Amino acid sequence: MDSKSIRRTFLEFFESKKHKIVPSAPIVVQNDPTLMFTNAGMNQFKDYFLGNKVAENKRVADTQKCLRVSGKHNDLEEVGIDTYHHTMFEMLGNWSFGDYFKEEAIEWAWELLTGQFKLPKDRFYATIFEGDSTENLDQDSEAKKFWMKHLPEDRVLNGNKKDNFWEMGDTGPCGPCSELHIDLRPQSEVDKVPGKDLVNQDHPQVVEIWNLVFIQYNRLSNGILENLPEKHVDTGMGFERLAMAIQGKQSNYDTDVFQPLIQWVAKKGGVEYGNDEKTDIAIRVISDHIRAIAFTIADGQLPSNNKAGYVIRRILRRAVRYGYTFLRFKEPFLHEMLDILVDQFDGVFPELTGQKDFIAKVIKEEELSFLRTLDNGLKKLDTITSGSSKTIAGSTAFELYDTYGFPLDLTALIARENNMEVDEAGFKKEMEVQKNRSKSAGKQTTGDWTVVNEGDDVTFLGYTDTQSTTKVLRYREV
Ligand code: ATP
Ligand code: MG
Ligand code: MG
Ligand code: MG
Repeated sequence: MDSKSIRRTFLEFFESKKHKIVPSAPIVVQNDPTLMFTNAGMNQFKDYFLGNKVAENKRVADTQKCLRVSGKHNDLEEVGIDTYHHTMFEMLGNWSFGDYFKEEAIEWAWELLTGQFKLPKDRFYATIFEGDSTENLDQDSEAKKFWMKHLPEDRVLNGNKKDNFWEMGDTGPCGPCSELHIDLRPQSEVDKVPGKDLVNQDHPQVVEIWNLVFIQYNRLSNGILENLPEKHVDTGMGFERLAMAIQGKQSNYDTDVFQPLIQWVAKKGGVEYGNDEKTDIAIRVISDHIRAIAFTIADGQLPSNNKAGYVIRRILRRAVRYGYTFLRFKEPFLHEMLDILVDQFDGVFPELTGQKDFIAKVIKEEELSFLRTLDNGLKKLDTITSGSSKTIAGSTAFELYDTYGFPLDLTALIARENNMEVDEAGFKKEMEVQKNRSKSAGKQTTGDWTVVNEGDDVTFLGYTDTQSTTKVLRYREV
């Protein structure tokens, strides 16, 4: 089954169970100071759980574009190194707002995975909340009972609060959750080590695919839990991991979600994917990052020097440098990958198709601008990493940042590759000094337009010159 059919089957299945299929919320969050990017399917439904709004439909399902590169969920360092964490991924989800609860959620998850998708029943493990005596919380025996209709008792595992109790924040809606894990190892390995010993152990072939959250409590500001009058279901399943399981692959990157990107990068670099681990990581990182970059730009977040915009710029520069160092890409290349993405998401996320040329243009500009200083920055770093010191000084990291456009995490990544560390405190000190300097220097203004200083709150409005390649970015303050 190809990934487009997998996505469609998921949505049609929940439609047949009377769910309304809704569009993904934008991946960039507007008007919420606590969150920059959508990191889970439930984000757009937060107000229903908080009781601030009444849901028009009590059952909904969708595929949500998510990004996990900041805040509570930050998977950036795993991406490309492992085979199942991405920056941008799709979270398939179904919700009940005060309607069905544990029994239906569990029953349908099982029916979909083993019925529609025909995944082998004897490769699943479910985890349930084990309870917590300090909070007077019992084991989630209800969820256990429903899983045990399908799974033997030794495949329904107890999980602790960290993995199996979900809370929105310090206060508010919360409840136990139940995760489904699948063991994708060859039978010979399964016979040697039972899958239950590998659940939640970061094993690349025994992975979590679906999280079912049962929202039944409200945490008060004094920490006490009260029962909610209305109980809700919030589920999230990793689309790319599901594709890996259904397509019989051992890595998300081997599915048809990623293969066109992977093969394009390999061909462009004149290498074969699967021959050399360092090159493979670079190919995976690039194939991952272009998705994050394209979708955030499509949803209105342009690369910039602060906040969400700087997160995108950091991801983009990370991808450019992986290409430069490991695949010898000395010219812009990321923007050429847009065609593949548009092809893949045609009919699913139209925002990409409609804005293809614009997105490619923004990416190309960013690539050109970083490539102008990347080589000199890397040479500078080379002289340091080839020395005997184990630390990159804060002042050097700052110079790399300020003069060569190296985000701190990029310098830290290169340091790690060379078994070195960065003096981050020293870097921050230098940054403060510069901020104070630029504050007192004030902003250069020309009418409506402001040339922006580091850290200012701004909205991107366009380039000063749309023809030349040496553009000055201009912004208006907000
Ligand atoms: P993991 O333990 O593997 O990091 P999680 O517990 O952080 O996953 P949830 O917050 O429960 O993940 O999200 C729901 C589902 O989304 C997961 O079961 C998984 O299938 C998928 N998922 C989570 N993070 C990622 C990611 N970075 N890339 C791809 N899929 C992901
Ligand atoms: Mg995680
Ligand atoms: Mg988990
Ligand atoms: Mg989880």
